Amino acid sequence: MNVLVVNAGSSSLKYQLFDTNTDAVLARGLCDRIGIEGSKIKHKQLVKGVERALETPMADHSVAMKLVVEMLTDTEVGCIASMDEIEAVGHRVVHGGSYFSKSILLNDDVLAKLELCRDFAPLHTPAAITGIKACLAIMPTKPQVLVFDTAFHQTMAPEAYMYALPYSYYEKYGIRRYGFHGSSHRYVSAEMAKLLGKPVEETKIVTCHIGNGSSISAVKGGKVVDTSMGFTPLAGVEMGTRCGDIDPAIVTYIMEKENLSAAEINSIMNKKSGFLGVTEFSSDSRDIEDALIAGPSDPNYERCKLANDILVYQIKKYIGSYAAAMNGLDAVVFTAGIGENSTILRELVCENMEFLGIELDRDVNAKTLRQSDNVRISTESSKTAVYVIPTNEELVIARDTAALAANN
Ligand code: ADP
Repeated sequence: MNVLVVNAGSSSLKYQLFDTNTDAVLARGLCDRIGIEGSKIKHKQLVKGVERALETPMADHSVAMKLVVEMLTDTEVGCIASMDEIEAVGHRVVHGGSYFSKSILLNDDVLAKLELCRDFAPLHTPAAITGIKACLAIMPTKPQVLVFDTAFHQTMAPEAYMYALPYSYYEKYGIRRYGFHGSSHRYVSAEMAKLLGKPVEETKIVTCHIGNGSSISAVKGGKVVDTSMGFTPLAGVEMGTRCGDIDPAIVTYIMEKENLSAAEINSIMNKKSGFLGVTEFSSDSRDIEDALIAGPSDPNYERCKLANDILVYQIKKYIGSYAAAMNGLDAVVFTAGIGENSTILRELVCENMEFLGIELDRDVNAKTLRQSDNVRISTESSKTAVYVIPTNEELVIARDTAALAANN
């Protein structure tokens, strides 16, 4: 089945056309600066390897969607003859609140519930709704499926998802842990479970999605028992620009000391913290690693080492606590930009973890970067397997969309 996967941001729209019979990506692209001056589309057709970039006004997401269809059906850079060959559309939605525990076919009721999730992710949900409406406008009869970043985490027990705040906030505002990157944790944990060669029900896996945004999950028997992100994607480990877990009292303390509004402190914790905040230099782990490799003579070395040490220490603590939560550990998976590429981070995380049965093969680890395959980076004798598994959130969306559309 030809499935168009759409990931709409406030001023962007990423897309991939999949043939779900073979999992092949036929084309992919990005519309950027939608509704802003200088809108452009970059499109790549992967069957023939041809591409096109075009700067053209895109007043809104509907105009962008029309352009996407034009590219997909273009005689030179297209891969389908007409829009009829798109059989279903899958949308990435960041926050489904407690309403959605799995992917779902769009209908009026679903759209109404999604509207209720706007407040949970004020930057993302309105953009997703705009993307969905843009597709409905030009492809009103195609099945549309929503795939949520929060859905895979809906299996958590109350003791894992509740905060010890007045209960009324949960009732009134839905304050609880939701978790994010669900499609990624689902994909890599399922791949890992297959590699373990035992029934899924018996597997205990920690998945470390470490990228610009990072989250770690404990997946027992194929179900999430805990995850590091919380009510929002700000919680958990240190990230590119997000602070991760901090003492909540720090928030009001700094607001008072620096005379900051709620919006200002929120912006500092989301955009000026993490690697960027600690190093006062860069949010990008490649810059941090370059400084680490350069050594103490590099002016940024001390802070970069600190930022990296914080992340490594926090990941170790999550792995240990999740092993406790699951009463055991079969495997640790590294994925996403940093997890798939940073040999240094993986080596440091796996150091001194023998008590959990982790024994890294340093040579294999050092060679494992920009890999498209799943690679075991632990030794043969390591009781706990450690793998690098490239994530594929779009494939999860395409497969769910095809399955739901086929039963429509
Ligand atoms: P996002 O959360 O935006 O999806 P990604 O998963 O793409 O982020 O991860 C982006 C991060 O991955 C950046 O910090 C980038 O520096 C890092 N990264 C990418 N390639 C490498 C590499 N070869 N070595 C270390 N870090 C890398």
